[in-house]
Amino acid sequence: MQKFAEIARAARSHAVNAAKLEAALRRNVRGDVRFDNGSRALYATDGSNYRQVPIGVVLPRDADDVTATVALAHELGSPILCRGGGTSLAGQCCNVAVILDFSKYMTRIVEIDPVRQIARVQPGVVLDHLRNAAEKYHLTFGPDPATHDRCTIGGMIGNNSCGVHSVMAGKTDDNIEELDILTYDGVRLRVGETSDAELEKISGEEGRRGRIYAGLKALREQYADLVRQRFPNIPRRVSGYNLNYLLPENKFQVARALVGTEGTCVTVLEATCRLVKSPPQRVLLVIAYPDVFECADRVPDIMQFKPIGLEGIDQRLVDYMRRKGLNAEGLALLPEGGGWLLAEFGADTQAEAQAQAQALVDFLGRSPNQPHMRLLIEPAQIRKVWEVRESALGASSHVPGEPLEWEGWEDSAVRPDQLGRYLRDLNKLMAGYGYRSTLYGHFGHACVHMRVNFDMQSTSGIANFRKFVEEAADLVINYGGSLSGEHGDGQSRAELLPRMFGPELVQAFREFKNIWDPDWKMNPGKVVEPYKLDENLRLGADYRPWEPPTHFQFPADDGSLAGATLRCVGVGKCRRSEGGVMCPSFRVTRDEEHSTRGRAHLLWEMTKGDVIQDGWRDEHVKDSLDLCLACKGCKSDCPVGVDVATYKSEFLSHYYDGRRRPRSAYAFGNIDLWAGLASNAPGLVNLTTQLPFLRDISKLVAGIPRQRSIPALAPQTFRAWFHERVAPNWDGPPVLLWPDTFNNYFLPDTAKAAVNVLEAAGFRVLLPNASLCCGRPLYDWGMLSRAKDLLLEILDLLEPAIEQRIPIVVLEPSCAAVFRDELLNLFPHDERAHTFSQQTYLLSEFLQSKAADFPLPKLTRKALVHGHCHHKSVMKMTAEEAVLQRMEIDFHTPAPGCCGMAGSFGFEQDKYEVSVAIGELELLPAVRRAPPECLIIADGFSCREQIAQGTDRHALHLAEVIQMGLQNEISLDYPEQTSVERRNLAVQRSMTRAGLGVAGIAAGAAILWTLNRRR
Ligand SMILES: Cc1cc2nc3c(=O)[nH]c(=O)nc-3n(C[C@H](O)[C@H](O)[C@H](O)COP(=O)(O)OP(=O)(O)OC[C@H]3O[C@@H](n4cnc5c(N)ncnc54)[C@H](O)[C@@H]3O)c2cc1C
Ligand code: SF4
Repeated sequence: MQKFAEIARAARSHAVNAAKLEAALRRNVRGDVRFDNGSRALYATDGSNYRQVPIGVVLPRDADDVTATVALAHELGSPILCRGGGTSLAGQCCNVAVILDFSKYMTRIVEIDPVRQIARVQPGVVLDHLRNAAEKYHLTFGPDPATHDRCTIGGMIGNNSCGVHSVMAGKTDDNIEELDILTYDGVRLRVGETSDAELEKISGEEGRRGRIYAGLKALREQYADLVRQRFPNIPRRVSGYNLNYLLPENKFQVARALVGTEGTCVTVLEATCRLVKSPPQRVLLVIAYPDVFECADRVPDIMQFKPIGLEGIDQRLVDYMRRKGLNAEGLALLPEGGGWLLAEFGADTQAEAQAQAQALVDFLGRSPNQPHMRLLIEPAQIRKVWEVRESALGASSHVPGEPLEWEGWEDSAVRPDQLGRYLRDLNKLMAGYGYRSTLYGHFGHACVHMRVNFDMQSTSGIANFRKFVEEAADLVINYGGSLSGEHGDGQSRAELLPRMFGPELVQAFREFKNIWDPDWKMNPGKVVEPYKLDENLRLGADYRPWEPPTHFQFPADDGSLAGATLRCVGVGKCRRSEGGVMCPSFRVTRDEEHSTRGRAHLLWEMTKGDVIQDGWRDEHVKDSLDLCLACKGCKSDCPVGVDVATYKSEFLSHYYDGRRRPRSAYAFGNIDLWAGLASNAPGLVNLTTQLPFLRDISKLVAGIPRQRSIPALAPQTFRAWFHERVAPNWDGPPVLLWPDTFNNYFLPDTAKAAVNVLEAAGFRVLLPNASLCCGRPLYDWGMLSRAKDLLLEILDLLEPAIEQRIPIVVLEPSCAAVFRDELLNLFPHDERAHTFSQQTYLLSEFLQSKAADFPLPKLTRKALVHGHCHHKSVMKMTAEEAVLQRMEIDFHTPAPGCCGMAGSFGFEQDKYEVSVAIGELELLPAVRRAPPECLIIADGFSCREQIAQGTDRHALHLAEVIQMGLQNEISLDYPEQTSVERRNLAVQRSMTRAGLGVAGIAAGAAILWTLNRRR
């Protein structure tokens, strides 16, 4: 025992020559080798409480790259750590090691064999990608963690992951047939089930393979009885190594014995996974009891009805979601109660699935304490309720007004018939410490999730955390349960394993590791010979982040940028490649540094200041933020509301303090000024931006890529048009229309249409007396001093309108978002800001709340609707959709994500390709597929530009669509065509006039010059 402890300590403390290793890796590996401080900071933590800065990161392209990396690490004595999505919750995915990140390149599904029901995959394959591919054959990979859309098969094997459907298909260990593995000392093996004859043969071989099998055989012989006695016989024992698979009754299944070793034994290069039948028809029975404990008590009865999933959630979780405004639709579907069970039934036909659920309904209906129940059969509704369960972890982190909650006692498991008693005892234990937690989890297998409000920032708080975890461990062990029923031991629970398994079995675990990794360099300090559970904490008693003064006030984070960036708990939802809106740039690059999580972690590291040391001037942070489109997708999509767009703006304002910004910053950031100037001679300006050759020079000057077109200025601004006319409804209720820069100078038809709509609804339309700008483009460049000045100017000039509570209709969603979001973050204590923000409406919101009786015209058309990211994130699309429904428009919203243009982003030289790639993810192909008669609706100026420049269609603003209906002017095909032609013609004419003017002046000058010379 002593021997292993010493080897482990030596392995951990060996100083690695990182520079030499990096240079060697660069020479020998085709994939990416990243040893810079930014990359090291990015991978310093996972989803746990722990943080260890790695030596460097390698993103291997293939098995050869992995072999080369491991060989060089071995040569120089460097520890290694394999990594997939990095969503681990027990600290097993951070270490002082060379990290091998499989999630970018090693993502190939090698084979699916529907007859043998197996799939061969590389370790970086995301679970949902495998499931989608297998579903074509009505097959699936059974275990499905809540992170199914970003966790990798390698990570699932590492952690022995489970999920909702583990009650149907078991844990990951039950579903792995073979593994192609590499040991730290360079032996590559294919392992799986081993017959007695094979075992005899291999263990008698010379060489490393023979020694490994002989060692495993001897281990089995020594510990078999103890394994049978001491391994808890419960469905969710995930703690410890799977020595049970070496037993003869389990066919010496070496692959399964390696599942759950958390990267501490071998590197997985390829996995052969078992696929199970996926019931095509599913229904969900939601059962509500007065509290979660009663839910737990009923689990054994309910399990007899053989649901394919049985999950529980408690009232606190539901309350937290309500407070954070998450999953409103799913929550609305829960029947009345204080604790809920979600019982899913699946079968070949809908009728069969319903009949199974109905049998349970009848049974529970006859029970003394009848629950409230709701049987859901609509897939969309079922999905919404599952979203409630899947977002539980994020939803219970950073709840407004609540202390922070942490992992630490996250996934213990007992026998299902003891769940109710265990939960009550656990609750008592927490109460004794003054702790609170949500309670939810895989109740069918009696695995409970909770995040507790541990104090991780004081010595006494951390001491209490340790004491509580120790007592909770004793409690679960008294119940014959497992410390971990799902997430693994990592560092959180490894130290407690002797309590659960006893010293002899822990010695067996050491020997098992030693057989595979005699150098003890694979993910050292995790699972066996572990770090203490209160070592390497991400916060800790000495956590004193840098708190620089900021423009934004971060009112939801106690005024602290460090607090805001601490929000990211590593959930990794931003690493999804489909669904939701976040994060568009990660979807294109697949690099951690371009994920919301990566950016938040880097900024947090900047405030911590030990790896990222250059504060506001740090180039790593700058690079990572560079591709952020400031779409605010994360603000709404991330369950803890990480708001990278705001952090980016704050960072850039300091990064550029006293330095020159790129040319495009001045061109786009101050577009209101340039457009205002240019509107004095729009034809002339259009000549320079639209004519061949001249437009190329203009693009060069403004830093715009050659492939982009510069939008043409309208010959007459909206404000000029408005002031030329006699406005009707002089005694109607007033409404202030916000003439934003884009709709005033470039697309005034939109604002004119809005005037027509508002006046048709009986309102008196007013404009601000002066030209004002919300400053939206300034945020993209961190030009926050001017942005604040502009907002103060607005508050001053519009003070009378604010006081009179005159509603303000804003047509450009990104401008409305400034008033709803940035304004309050910059001036949280200015009453006028709050009132102004509440008075701001999008056109659709205004029509819904102030003109609900106005008979909107009916337009029985199909429409493709693309919501601007800020609209979706800050305002939500509810009102927009309600207006379209009032108009009987048959709309669909195919692209939940970003258009890729995102303000000036798509107009920047170095962003063009990413911008187009994002557009091509969903929106542009959907627009191209739309039939000619379909309306394309997009309210955002940049979205309309992306559509116009990337397809043969032009999008209309909602105001224009309503106007078309009011005027009954809509062509059958390409409904936008008439207004586009009208606009183009007007621009052409203005250019012709300007051209003639210029030619006239030039001719006059030439004549004068000639006459002069003759004289
Ligand atoms: C919000 C949230 C919800 C979660 N819900 C669940 C849940 O329902 N069920 C569940 O089981 N877990 C859950 N987890 C934990 C985690 O998501 C899962 O364990 C997941 O399967 C890990 O996958 P990953 O790709 O992120 O692995 P990572 O975290 O990257 O790695 C996990 C382990 O596998 C090892 N590993 C990775 N690749 C290899 C390889 N090629 N060779 C050898 N070892 C490797 C790593 O070293 C590490 O020890 C949840 C986590 C979060 C944040
Ligand atoms: S604002 Fe958009 S692009 Fe930027 S990090 Fe958030 S989701 Fe990603």
